[in-house]
Amino acid sequence: MEKKFVYADNAATTRISQSVLDAMMPYLTDQFGNPSGVYSIGRRARRAVETARQKAAQALGCEPSEICFTSGGTESDNWALAGTYRALAPEGKKRIISTVIEHPAVLNTLEYLKKQGADIVLLPVAENGRIDPEEVRKAITPDTALVSVMAANNETGVIQPVDEISRICEEHEVLFHTDAVQAVPHLRFDLAHSGISLLSLSGHKLHAPKGTGILYIKNGLSVSQILFGGSQESGLRPGTENTAAIAGLGKALEDLFPDHEDRNARISALRDKLADGLLKNEGVIMNGDRENMLPGHCSISVKGADGEKLLLMLDLKGICASAGSACTSGDAEPSHVLKAMGVKNDYINGSVRFTLDEYNTEEDVDYITETFAEILKKAL
Ligand code: PLP
Repeated sequence: MEKKFVYADNAATTRISQSVLDAMMPYLTDQFGNPSGVYSIGRRARRAVETARQKAAQALGCEPSEICFTSGGTESDNWALAGTYRALAPEGKKRIISTVIEHPAVLNTLEYLKKQGADIVLLPVAENGRIDPEEVRKAITPDTALVSVMAANNETGVIQPVDEISRICEEHEVLFHTDAVQAVPHLRFDLAHSGISLLSLSGHKLHAPKGTGILYIKNGLSVSQILFGGSQESGLRPGTENTAAIAGLGKALEDLFPDHEDRNARISALRDKLADGLLKNEGVIMNGDRENMLPGHCSISVKGADGEKLLLMLDLKGICASAGSACTSGDAEPSHVLKAMGVKNDYINGSVRFTLDEYNTEEDVDYITETFAEILKKAL
């Protein structure tokens, strides 16, 4: 088989689309002004930021004044959690309810807040990767400041029942944050008509550049700032705006929705073909509830295999995928998500996540499937 390059790690990051690059270029070149400048190139940069805000609001079904540009998903999550805690802890609201399957941007912020005196409750997850909304209801107390549940998990792609959870929060007058970094490229939100108080998203998961994101803050909420400086973003998030990246993010959000159902259908047909192909190999299981899964995710575990070794072998064949583990300096810890779902020990270390998007083709899927079968013969 001829070696190809196949990018199948779109949950890690995506390529910048041509239309996004075109939207960014003026602000990386001639229109380099500071959006706070009073002269023409400053005013043009300001217009680019405000146009992007309008496009983002349109895509998310909210008001432009509810959109705050940040440096990405990590900052948005930190701000949502720490900002709410700082605003509400003085009123005695010190409980934050979240889940064991959140991204480290949430889990590590909660760890920090716990040291500051927060009462952190992490809810368990079922074997299929879903959080039970009734567990949220049971955990809410009069001193609860916030519930934070991700809209879809980054490792498994399992979509969480955020509508139900947000309604429970509304009933109890508790704020609800969702980390929608993985969900926004595929799921349509109508924030004005939802019970979501705060939502995080990241540009580089939807064909905009890295280092840009949004925190949606429902009008009327008081969330403390976590960065201090100038008056940008209504004084809530200071720092000279990353004009080009913001213009790119606005364009990426504008591009998402006109055909998102068709695009999701195309991607999920490819994913199903990939999953079915991989599952033909002995000892391979798929992680997560396929009925409630983002269209491009395919997380599998191979009995008795070493996921890191599989990834290296895939890389040698030109295929980019991820392990279902948080891998730092060569130490592959089994994924906290798969562990929480009860994936068995002899499977958990052999986890690989493929994530497809609209740039992938049937040929890519055939190549991955054939290569994976060959690799398994050598690796096991
Ligand atoms: N939350 C989730 C669910 C993610 O998947 C990621 C990135 O992988 C983040 C937060 C962090 O986003 P960023 O890379 O923009 O900081």
